[in-house]
Amino acid sequence: MSGPIFIGAECMNQEIFDVAIIGGGPAGLSAAIYAGRAHLRACLFEGMSAGGQMFNTSTIENFPGFSIVDGPELSQKMEAQVRQWGTEIIYSHIAKLKREADLFELTNYNEETVLARTVIVAAGSIPRKLQVPGELELAGQGVSYCATCDGAFFRDKDVAIIGGGDSAIEESLYLARLVRQVTVVHRRDALRATKDLQERAFANPRIEFLWDTTVEAIEGHARVEALRVRNVKTQAVTALPVAGVFIYIGMLPNTAFLEGLVELDEYGYVVADESTLTSVPGLFAAGDIRTKDLRQIVTALADGAMAATAAERYLGKRGF
Ligand code: NAP
Repeated sequence: MSGPIFIGAECMNQEIFDVAIIGGGPAGLSAAIYAGRAHLRACLFEGMSAGGQMFNTSTIENFPGFSIVDGPELSQKMEAQVRQWGTEIIYSHIAKLKREADLFELTNYNEETVLARTVIVAAGSIPRKLQVPGELELAGQGVSYCATCDGAFFRDKDVAIIGGGDSAIEESLYLARLVRQVTVVHRRDALRATKDLQERAFANPRIEFLWDTTVEAIEGHARVEALRVRNVKTQAVTALPVAGVFIYIGMLPNTAFLEGLVELDEYGYVVADESTLTSVPGLFAAGDIRTKDLRQIVTALADGAMAATAAERYLGKRGF
């Protein structure tokens, strides 16, 4: 294997890393803390900002020890803790991962490469798209996947949220503090979100619900002006005037760079249990990217700790 080493990062001067962590959400950050504490030569690759989905979550109410904490703040604290333990964070997207002769080769979009003995994939997932006309065209012009990032642009305006899960309802409650009216557009007549979130949303006068309704198109000239919605029971198509639409219909795992290397399930998640071991020796999967029942910050943190420990054991058995 050959190729240039990423420039500008101290840890890139290392010839071969003990562990390369791909993804800087809670799973990756936790792995980086544990790897640092185990004195492994570790590097963490993150394409955007540390924290992942956690960074885009306005308020978190189920992180033990904090009755309420905001996502960006928790992300920054974890990031600082990673640096404290000596694992460097490199802001670069890994586009390809290969394994050859017991070593992993990580390549970014500039075709720069690094080598590592073990890899922890913690690349998480990205928001699922609605795939309706207007969604791509008006992205950033009223179409958003992050209420924390964009909510303030809609102060005193009407917005819609699409979805009925925890994310949709949690972010509706957040937006209701900023905007005039939030309309939750949901394709069924019952929410998937936890009961506590449901009760608070139902009690909030600024949140209303459009049940049994799908979005046919997002409409507007230059900016979002309305949604064209269909009632799936009556088939009636109407316009819902809104200045913004926040799409929270679930997530898709970021596994494109792993295809052909490791076993994925039918939905694209890396097949691994709590041990975080994958079908490839030396490759560990942590957080939302792996097959699991409960995708939460606390479960991602546990995965990260487990993956770093598993990597340490793997290296120990091979005399590193
Ligand atoms: P989710 O639980 O998968 O919910 C997705 C929602 O979007 C569902 O209501 C689904 O409808 C709807 N949906 C899916 N595809 C759709 C489409 N094409 N058109 C219209 N609607 C569509 O996703 P999530 O809310 O992002 O949550 C993901 C995971 O993170 C969950 O395990 C959740 O519990 C967790 N989470 C936890 C917290 C928390 O505890 N504080 C916060 C956020 C997320 P149906 O209900 O009809 O399927």
